[in-house]
Amino acid sequence: MAHVINKELCLACGACAGTCPVEAIAADGDVFAIDPNVCVDCGACASECPVEAISEE
Ligand code: SF4
Ligand code: SF4
Repeated sequence: MAHVINKELCLACGACAGTCPVEAIAADGDVFAIDPNVCVDCGACASECPVEAISEE
């Protein structure tokens, strides 16, 4: 289980990356992506995303 970013919705604002306590989120081309091996499923990024592009998978 990890949180995932919907690449179709992501605006690459970077807000999620700034809030992640374990630095699991980084730019990936034109959008941002979450490393599932680092994510601890805290949900902080999902609360921060202005377009609700982040969900639990
Ligand atoms: S759920 Fe938490 S640990 Fe996982 S990417 Fe989002 S902020 Fe980081
Ligand atoms: S906060 Fe949302 S829109 Fe902004 S970079 Fe993260 S996933 Fe993309």
